[in-house]
Amino acid sequence: MTIRSLLIANRGEIAVRVNRAAKALGMRTVQVYSQADVNSLAVRLADEAIEIGPPAARKSYLNIDAVIAAAKAAKVDAVHPGYGFLSENADFAEAVAAAGIAFVGPSAEAIRLLGDKVTARRVAAEAGVPTVPGSAGRVADIGEARGMAAGIGFPLMIKAAAGGGGRGIRIVSSMEEFERQFPQASAEAAAAFGDGGLYIEKVIERARHIEVQILGDGKNFVHCFERECSLQRRRQKVWEEAPSVSLKPHVRERLCASAVALAKAVSYRGAGTVEYLYDDASEEFYFIEVNTRIQVEHPVTEMITGIDLVQEMLRIAGGEPLSIRQEDVRVSGHAIECRINAEDPYRDFMPAPGPVHELEVPNGDRIRFDTLLYAGYEVSPFYDSLLGKLIVHGKDRTDCLDRLRDALAALKIVGIPTTVPLHQGLAADPDVAASRYHTRFLEHWLQTAFAPAQGSKEVAR
Ligand code: ADP
Ligand code: ADP
Ligand code: MG
Repeated sequence: MTIRSLLIANRGEIAVRVNRAAKALGMRTVQVYSQADVNSLAVRLADEAIEIGPPAARKSYLNIDAVIAAAKAAKVDAVHPGYGFLSENADFAEAVAAAGIAFVGPSAEAIRLLGDKVTARRVAAEAGVPTVPGSAGRVADIGEARGMAAGIGFPLMIKAAAGGGGRGIRIVSSMEEFERQFPQASAEAAAAFGDGGLYIEKVIERARHIEVQILGDGKNFVHCFERECSLQRRRQKVWEEAPSVSLKPHVRERLCASAVALAKAVSYRGAGTVEYLYDDASEEFYFIEVNTRIQVEHPVTEMITGIDLVQEMLRIAGGEPLSIRQEDVRVSGHAIECRINAEDPYRDFMPAPGPVHELEVPNGDRIRFDTLLYAGYEVSPFYDSLLGKLIVHGKDRTDCLDRLRDALAALKIVGIPTTVPLHQGLAADPDVAASRYHTRFLEHWLQTAFAPAQGSKEVAR
């Protein structure tokens, strides 16, 4: 089946991105939107737009019945779920298929296996992929948990089986703290994710976050190398790169091969990401989870490989066999992505929605700005604060950082505070330039390097 029309079941920059890929393949695009998104760029760019409900995501972008009704009314051939919202919801994938429409992603069965972080750990272990030491399954109750925690040792992490987006994770450093936090974590996970299931993992200290992009058509599987996303705030990625300069070639080979083995084990279809923590002292890597969808940071991989991952997803969903062979995937240069959020980095990253009066975007063939913005747009308070992503490609990492500094200086978003100054600080930092960091680096850097700079700025005002 060739996909001729596509419903985009998401919003923001990823809806714009999916629209562009679908248009490039000659598809008719249908955009769903909530009442808060009437004036969105995604709605403007699509061939058709269908309102699916009030601003609250629960009543619109997370409302399976409303999205399916829109897909049926528009008579589309396929639905792209983007990231977040319903993208990793197996019931949604099933409902799309039951309506006779192609879901742009893996089967509901693969989403169930890999979307649950506990079953994913088991699948990974069975495929021979090293996992973080921790509980074998869900931890049923505090009695069982106590024994396991003692065996793993402190500090350890309590993680929600259904968690995501950096939420549903707690670090505890003693048995007393563990006993206090465990029931709280379970109640919180039940409320946030509709599933109170928990598991525990050893804390991998001073680790780097490295992830492998995979593509599969159910029979053939390739990897598109790795991304490094170690610069994080509250376990959410802030800045992402490809390739990782911390991997030696033999480790990269093992890491990428393990991701392909995992894809094979579940006959994966579509684009996915296998995430790991990497300890560069021991050169050991540990599986943490799989994201069965396109990721926010996919453009850095596109920049260094020349592959359009969203177009590949659409081709695979249309039943085409994977056109890329492993030997065709080559890395050229280095790419960095900065997530630009509507948050005030000088006020503890307080969300700062509001009208954008002016927008100036740097251009050049090695610069990309994937965004939901246009001049005059009013950023909505109802959704996450991502405004866009600035992605820069260079011939090597040093060249890429040089170009990134210029691109950040040329990016002007007037009207609301954004995280551009944070990225300028990082792009000028000697430790960042030397790639000397781990997943907790940014937390410390914000207190020591960024906060004093902020003080002097306020004095200067
Ligand atoms: P990526 O894995 O692509 O880097 P993020 O972790 O930043 O992406 O998540 C992308 C978006 O999806 C964010 O808006 C995040 O809040 C949301 N998200 C991801 N997983 C979940 C989940 N399980 N529950 C709720 N929101 C989620
Ligand atoms: P999410 O589903 O929210 O993306 P992940 O399991 O991918 O959750 O973890 C998000 C981040 O939390 C990781 O990138 C890392 O910084 C941190 N983290 C998760 N598990 C561990 C661990 N066992 N040890 C140390 N850090 C961890
Ligand atoms: Mg993750």
